[in-house]
Amino acid sequence: MADLKNKRIITIATTGAYPQKSDNPAVPLTPKEIVEDVYECWKAGAAIAHLHMRDDQGKGAMDINKFRETKELLEKLHPDCDIILNMTTSGDVLATDETRMHHLPALHPEMASYDCGTMNWQNSGIFQNRPELLEKLGKLMIEENVKPEIEVFDPGMIGNAAYYIKKGIIKTPAHFQFCMGVANGIKGTMKNLVFMKETMEQLCPGSTWSAFGVGQSAMEIMYGTIAMGGHIRVGMEDNVFYKKGELATSNRQFVERAARLIREFGLEVATPDEARQILSLPPRK
Ligand code: ZN
Repeated sequence: MADLKNKRIITIATTGAYPQKSDNPAVPLTPKEIVEDVYECWKAGAAIAHLHMRDDQGKGAMDINKFRETKELLEKLHPDCDIILNMTTSGDVLATDETRMHHLPALHPEMASYDCGTMNWQNSGIFQNRPELLEKLGKLMIEENVKPEIEVFDPGMIGNAAYYIKKGIIKTPAHFQFCMGVANGIKGTMKNLVFMKETMEQLCPGSTWSAFGVGQSAMEIMYGTIAMGGHIRVGMEDNVFYKKGELATSNRQFVERAARLIREFGLEVATPDEARQILSLPPRK
């Protein structure tokens, strides 16, 4: 493991549930667009692809057929691409508990998101992750050998994760994603990033972590995360702007910048197989 400590994993969150072509024409929405985008990002250094699907109108959808089509298309068109697939379980606010997790036993992604608490969402609705759902989802992930990407939007959600680890509903070592700067969640500042990391280390020792900031906080959180030993998530799910006033031209552009910063810092970009080792995932089949 010694030589893995200088490796940093880049996750590409290509699509999310919300951005439209009117926000950024380069956001990939269809399975074919997502597959080509993931392939480009993988070539630029991304080791994990966090995937959301859209319906034919472009709305976030937990559509098992679209997930399947995307996975199969990637395998068919780019069999050399060994990126880790991480499928969302929160791609549609109207989804039922069942449709939020039906793709896991069917498609066996290596990872999937696990949103560890309920919160207000964008001051307009509720992002519901009730205890009952989290217990069911956690147990299913253990059964199906899908590693949770524990998304936490505030420190209380780290406390929730500690509870599920203690109950045996989340396996250790756990992997966290600090989602920062989202309205109704923790603000994306350096001080808060230090606090999130320290809270995680105290409550869930031995965990790995990654972080991103949305909007204005993106660069501060990225630099801070690299400096503090975390992994990086970038992509249009979290930011459609590359910098203030300038839309990103592609997801690959975000990955290239993250890879450049990691290397400038004197570290290396983890390959998917190195990421599997860092995250204690089984080797690729
Ligand atoms: Zn997501």
